[in-house]
Amino acid sequence: MSAKANKPTSTLAWGSATTIGRMRTNNEDAYLVANPLFAVADGMGGHEAGEIASKLAINTLKNCNDDLSEVSNLRKLVMRANVDVLEAPRQGIGRVGMGTTLTAAVIDNDRLLVAQVGDSRAYLMHNDHLRQVTRDHSYVQELLSSGEITEEQTRDHPRRGVITRVLGFEYETQPDLYELRLEAGDRLLLCSDGLHGMLQDKQIATILSEKKQPQQCADALVQAANRAGGQDNTTVVVVDVQTVAPAEARFSLKSRLRLGVIGFLIALALLVGGTVAGVWFYANSSAYLIAEDGQVVIYRGLVGDVFGFTLQWPYEETGIRVSDLKTPLPERLEQGIQLDSIEEAEQLVEMYREQIAESKP
Ligand code: CA
Repeated sequence: MSAKANKPTSTLAWGSATTIGRMRTNNEDAYLVANPLFAVADGMGGHEAGEIASKLAINTLKNCNDDLSEVSNLRKLVMRANVDVLEAPRQGIGRVGMGTTLTAAVIDNDRLLVAQVGDSRAYLMHNDHLRQVTRDHSYVQELLSSGEITEEQTRDHPRRGVITRVLGFEYETQPDLYELRLEAGDRLLLCSDGLHGMLQDKQIATILSEKKQPQQCADALVQAANRAGGQDNTTVVVVDVQTVAPAEARFSLKSRLRLGVIGFLIALALLVGGTVAGVWFYANSSAYLIAEDGQVVIYRGLVGDVFGFTLQWPYEETGIRVSDLKTPLPERLEQGIQLDSIEEAEQLVEMYREQIAESKP
């Protein structure tokens, strides 16, 4: 009995809804429901170009025949959508400068794969707890991550709509990728910013837990966004995971044992060689900012310790006094702000210097 032929699939149920909202004259959102692939796209570009961009990206997904249980194939698919949007104006479709967000999810039995560009989001409701799966590519998200503003301040920030990564602008654009485990009873939500811009997460969570059917739930979400002001187009896709086969049930006992032994040997080799090298390499390329003796200091490495080891090396004392910075920065700096690189740390320090200079008369 081959594992592949014997592989059960998950049972899904879904619903979707889109609305123009109460302020816009056209709907630039598009979505796809094509089990096991689901997606939401939010176009931009004016003069109907936004509508074209989001539809182009969704069409690329719709026409895909690849095995999307491979996360690398999902990544390639989103990159193909990027090129399709980017090159369309040359064939007289849409306009140069049009773009679109894209949040695409694949459900492969008990695995959820998500690829994301822009500020449309994926959320997962698990045991009545709502978790935001994706991280927006937006200016306010950057401010939030660097500790410049609080979650609350993102809601009415004047530059809320500024997106930092979008399909259709550059050939190099890559999606962020996420992989999560699913259980029966989980509910996935994909949505454009018309929803999360109008409703707080706890309002979204209430609707997701109250409505039994996914279609009812989708309708209720877009209605709530309109009641809250409907300032933008709102699109939602709701997918219920009704049954999944646990990972271990997918293999026969014999293959499970064999896989177990091979897996153990591989894990051991990786643990000894790869992990140490990998963690060290990762730490060495990372950086963080922290308050020391009232001053902002840049470190190379990781905040705190990893399995009891400290992986950090002092890099630069900036001379910036923590007390000169606005809340919530001093508090965040006490804990340490983890960043991907020294360059990012230096950019942030530069921003702090500007902030201090501006606040001085
Ligand atoms: Ca939008």
